[in-house]
Amino acid sequence: MGVIIDGLKISKEKREKIKKEVEFLKDEGINVCLAVILVGKNPASKIYVKNKKKACQELGIISKEILLDEKIEKEELKEVINSLNEDEEVNGILLQLPLPKHLNENEIVNYISSLKDVDCFCTKNTGKLFSGNFYFAPCTPSGIIDLIKSTNVKISGKNAVVVGRSNIVGKPMAMLLLKENATVCICHSKTENLEFFTKNADILIVAIGKPNFIRGDMVKKGAVVIDVGINRLSNNKLCGDVFFEEVLNVAGFLTPVPGGVGPMTITKLMENTIKAVRLQKNKIKC
Ligand code: NDP
Repeated sequence: MGVIIDGLKISKEKREKIKKEVEFLKDEGINVCLAVILVGKNPASKIYVKNKKKACQELGIISKEILLDEKIEKEELKEVINSLNEDEEVNGILLQLPLPKHLNENEIVNYISSLKDVDCFCTKNTGKLFSGNFYFAPCTPSGIIDLIKSTNVKISGKNAVVVGRSNIVGKPMAMLLLKENATVCICHSKTENLEFFTKNADILIVAIGKPNFIRGDMVKKGAVVIDVGINRLSNNKLCGDVFFEEVLNVAGFLTPVPGGVGPMTITKLMENTIKAVRLQKNKIKC
């Protein structure tokens, strides 16, 4: 029977540290502020934004919420982002994705100043990530690295398999694992014989958005398994991409859903907001 990685506990410990840092900055006369932009009324996005606001409040970070109409045009959204880029009181900017269909996400994330891009979405910051020399790391993948490290399993030299190749999770995840000297393989919907790869993984990260997709017999005994998926079932319960009970019998370590990757993602956002303050105030070269 594997060990459940308690993402809630690990993020709570990290948040205590962040809270102290926010207090320290306040004593220095700096009020940390994160601006969150939500376009439209996507119910899942509304929940994510609410959770981020709650975390800011808990840690003493000012949260500036900008709610915009679903039909907003590109130029108007650009102006909103520009005014936040120029606002010295705003340290971090988060644009909640997905955006409504008429807006090109890849283009719009690049309106965010790379110095305030706490989600690490703009091309300048993702380029740095790919070069291996980066300041901001994207929240979900960097939270996952912390979760893996919490197990004390060495990442260096291990076979790491990432299932899913999205720009938000899969691809940056692979880059961070590579930076940690893992041997990395990325699988996706066109991968033939997926099981061959997952069964060889010492570290398996699953981010596909398919409930209970990874079964016990697809996992290597003793592996570290990280379930990124968040799926809502017809009974309204949340579940991950990994069949929890089956895989826990085989894996060495496994993250639960909820209570695994989710809380760490928000914690990393808070951490990146503090990093943004340092970047802006200390004029660190980025
Ligand atoms: P996307 O839909 O953008 O990407 C899904 C990826 O999974 C694609 O690369 C797709 O392959 C691949 N895929 C789909 N079906 C299969 C399959 N049968 N076998 C192998 N690969 C497959 O999703 P995201 O990366 O944005 O999110 C993935 C999941 O993680 C979702 O449930 C999301 O809600 C959750 N999530 C959780 C976060 C957290 O903080 N906990 C943060 C972000 C996401 P292809 O490219 O070939 O189509």
